Amino acid sequence: MQHYICTGECHGESSNPGVCQVEDCKKEGEPLTPCNCPDSTHHNPAPQEGEKDGE
Ligand SMILES: [Zn+2]
Ligand SMILES: [Zn+2]
Repeated sequence: MQHYICTGECHGESSNPGVCQVEDCKKEGEPLTPCNCPDSTHHNPAPQEGEKDGE
């Protein structure tokens, strides 16, 4: 079922849409990304504008 994840370093997960609320996360206050993975791997979240892969 659909859930929402934070793509910042907190890797937060929620069953409801919302924003990241982790103070130390780069994505604090930014909308969570919709994800439909069946096994909590979050390997295929919906693409998000401005997304950057941390290296
Ligand atoms: Zn976060
Ligand atoms: Zn997922």
